[in-house]
Amino acid sequence: MENSLETAIGKLAALQEVDRQVRAKREELQALTTEIAALEGQLALQTNAARDASSERDILEARRRKLEGDLEDEESKMTDRRMRLNRVRNEKELQALRREIEVGKETNQQREEEILGVLEALEELNAKASDAERAQSELAERASSEAENHRDRIRQLAAEIEAATDSRDRMTQGLDSNVLRKYEQIFARRGGIAVVEVRNGICLGCHMNLPPQFYNELQRAVDIRSCPNCHRILYCRAERVDSNEVSR
Ligand SMILES: [Zn+2]
Repeated sequence: MENSLETAIGKLAALQEVDRQVRAKREELQALTTEIAALEGQLALQTNAARDASSERDILEARRRKLEGDLEDEESKMTDRRMRLNRVRNEKELQALRREIEVGKETNQQREEEILGVLEALEELNAKASDAERAQSELAERASSEAENHRDRIRQLAAEIEAATDSRDRMTQGLDSNVLRKYEQIFARRGGIAVVEVRNGICLGCHMNLPPQFYNELQRAVDIRSCPNCHRILYCRAERVDSNEVSR
């Protein structure tokens, strides 16, 4: 036969079961939300890296085109100078022209050397840029499919939490509001375990031996009692037969 204390504790125990499920679902939902943000963060970093690598390559590519253009211009000037060399009779002019040819040659040699260096660097940068682009598109694909799965699960969890919250509201009806508040405080502070069984005089919440007199009183109690150590709400199974007693 159930008395009102057993009814109240039974309700709290059932409530605790629902609350623990809701808590676990909320934690999972939070973890998934965090995971989505982390994926988006990784993707943003990789997108930046790919953009930086390709812009670095574009800058060097522009430098290569500029150098090759200048080289070509100088070459046509050199052709022109060599043709003038045959026509100039004035010794002073001739010397100036030879000097121009010398300087032009040196300038173009420097340009050719620089072009070689740029081509070498471009080879590396091209590889780097295409690696970064590939990594970016692979990550984008993976992140979007993972995030989509996470979002599906989040929607499911949110619906389950809502349904559980509704049934929780029904379950708390008829419970004393002081008892409910006490239960909620302990649930929040004690890792989601507010109602615990006492077995063989031991609180199964904190595993402390209850004082014998307290235990005796608890078995006859008609009101809600808390563990003196962990403050959780205690209950004894009245119909419970201890293994010690069986073996006797
Ligand atoms: Zn305890």
